[in-house]
Amino acid sequence: MENCIFCKIANGEIPAAKLYEDEEMVVFRDLHPQAKVHVLAVPRQHFKLFADMNAEQAEIVKNMLVKIPQIAPSLGLADGYRLIVNQGENAGQTVFHLHMHLLGGEKLPE
Ligand code: AMP
Repeated sequence: MENCIFCKIANGEIPAAKLYEDEEMVVFRDLHPQAKVHVLAVPRQHFKLFADMNAEQAEIVKNMLVKIPQIAPSLGLADGYRLIVNQGENAGQTVFHLHMHLLGGEKLPE
């Protein structure tokens, strides 16, 4: 999607500290980390919300949820992490391309 920062990161148009990528998703460091390790897992396909997903995109999200625990140790998240997916303006979503925040690398506040 034009003018979507996460589409541009996914396709390499703008740089990011990428830690993992495959045909369906990219994982890169958040620009403004809220924990010792703060990365974003982003599907390459552009959609804003879980509510907007088609069947193919739902399958991609399912695959992401399988892959994230597999790659977590390589991201510095072996001892656990918090997974946050902001959905919409009231939740504080600021980038309207679905993304999962993975926070960890330390004991997080309750
Ligand atoms: P959200 O508030 O859930 O939409 O989260 C968007 C996140 O994207 C924020 O934590 C930002 O710090 C992060 N972010 C915005 N632009 C970039 C960028 N160019 N590279 C990495 N992270 C970014």
